[in-house]
Amino acid sequence: MHRPEFFHLGSGSSTYKLAEWAQGEMDLEPVVCPADPGHQRPGKRLTDLSVTLPRNSVDDIVWTWCSECLLTDRVLELFRAAGLTGFEVKPVKARYERADTEPPRLWELVVTGWAGMAPPDSGIKLIRHCEVCGIKVYSGPTDLEHVISPSQWDGSDFFIVWPMPKFVFITDRVVQAIRDNGLAGAMIEPPEAMRFSPDDTIGGGRLSYWMPEQRARELGEPLGIY
Ligand SMILES: [Zn+2]
Repeated sequence: MHRPEFFHLGSGSSTYKLAEWAQGEMDLEPVVCPADPGHQRPGKRLTDLSVTLPRNSVDDIVWTWCSECLLTDRVLELFRAAGLTGFEVKPVKARYERADTEPPRLWELVVTGWAGMAPPDSGIKLIRHCEVCGIKVYSGPTDLEHVISPSQWDGSDFFIVWPMPKFVFITDRVVQAIRDNGLAGAMIEPPEAMRFSPDDTIGGGRLSYWMPEQRARELGEPLGIY
């Protein structure tokens, strides 16, 4: 069987192109912990994305400060035509910060593909857990070669690994679609090249913050992360 190669799709290190959440236009469900006020935090986003774009043009693939990945119509059509799997899209409201012209239509990439929980070999460990509100904080990975466990991968071209829902992983089929079409705005690297510092913590929230309701329930309920 062809063993696919996996990559991380990200925005790269430069931040000047990153889109910002439009102030006051998005609602987040607050999570309040009856046991510890320090656990209060924003939960699930209740509204579609609304963003401002810092430049007067956009790449084919656009990223926000919160790691959301946005696609133009062209990219969405190319991904669909290539038969890529493991994603849905949600509409995005976008405007340029400094121009009166309309930006091209953008779609938020919602990853539905899944490669389960990061295996213990990755070095990701649960470091804090509250039984009352369910907050879970993990240490960042120390062995990036083992973040993705191929045996848990569902075969999707776009997928996430728990508890790293902000990191979009892709197959070489996606890499090929991006390269063949010269799409701008994507940084592609092997998982081993991702950078974490020893103090980094990651927290996945709940799977329902990231995936469509039904998919989140089906995957997350047995694992206690729905
Ligand atoms: Zn709590």
